[in-house]
Amino acid sequence: MIIVLKAGTPQDEISHISEQIRETWNVNIETITGKHKVVLGMIGETATLDPFQIQKISPWVEQVLHIEKAFKRVSREYRYGEASEVIITTPNGNVSISEHHPIVTVAGPCSVENEEMIVETAKRVKAAGAKFLRGGAYKPRTSPYAFQGHGESALDLLATARQVTGLGIVTEVMDASDLPAIIKVADIIQVGARNMQNFSMLKKVGAQDKPVLLKRGMSATIDEWLMAAEYIMAAGNPNVILCERGIRTFDAKYARNTLDLSVLPVLRSLTHLPIMIDPSHGTGRSEYVGPMAKAAIAAGTDSLMIEVHPNPAKALSDGPQSLTPDGFDSLMQELSVFGKVTGRWEEPALVGAIA
Ligand code: PEP
Ligand code: MN
Repeated sequence: MIIVLKAGTPQDEISHISEQIRETWNVNIETITGKHKVVLGMIGETATLDPFQIQKISPWVEQVLHIEKAFKRVSREYRYGEASEVIITTPNGNVSISEHHPIVTVAGPCSVENEEMIVETAKRVKAAGAKFLRGGAYKPRTSPYAFQGHGESALDLLATARQVTGLGIVTEVMDASDLPAIIKVADIIQVGARNMQNFSMLKKVGAQDKPVLLKRGMSATIDEWLMAAEYIMAAGNPNVILCERGIRTFDAKYARNTLDLSVLPVLRSLTHLPIMIDPSHGTGRSEYVGPMAKAAIAAGTDSLMIEVHPNPAKALSDGPQSLTPDGFDSLMQELSVFGKVTGRWEEPALVGAIA
């Protein structure tokens, strides 16, 4: 249940209303401060409460609404229709991912292989306009004999790339015991498709402060995905970004997955959380990445994730879907045309430009 307060409700009145509700109905209150309104989320046994009684608590209460859906904090109603903004602190400054900001691009290799390749890739993707460097230190591989990632030493290499370029770092957690080491380096913690319903891990990433990128499980329904996000938010972390990375369908002959771009309008109606589209894992083929990235922009994505490797033919994972740095640079120029049409593109700062 949520309590929408009238615009301009004074702070001491907000505290008073919260206190009254807490005491009278024995529930917890979460304050959600939107751009225009303050909304109080009632957390607890609220199904049988009478909205009219709550309404009577203060003349500042505008409306009391039941959230019918199974997911509460994630739902669009929970913020009274307003989109949320995930603000990520990077050495280059704060970056906002939301439906009201320019599209944010995350780029980099599937796996961190060595210092030279990660630093070089970081410099190139930054120059092309990416705001975040991605790279796996711990890789979820289908075969136990495939390259598993360099682990902690790869985290050190990501830290070096972060220091050199100032880009924010996105990297995946596969095992909650690695979280303390990952948190030191990552600006966004990625939960991969295969762990989307690893509920104990969701609780742990929810109990730390770094924003979380939650990829959609390869056979997860939208409700299951949103409930996974609810786990993170219920554990205390409101900064969740949803990433569509393709689902399994009956046809995987030509593309690795089916990139479900219909999630863009669907999620917009269901949730306030920002959305990222990953056309690299979504298609599995570098030649399909550009068209799907353009489509994602047209359909209103807030963010893109694109795999880039200096030598895709020699990549230790996901080479076939990786762009070269030159390919990424050209793609970003093409994407800027689409981004400008939708009013959501920010040109990269010119290197060496005079202010
Ligand atoms: C990745 O980002 O490299 C990755 C393994 O992604 P996913 O979990 O979507 O397969
Ligand atoms: Mn990959």
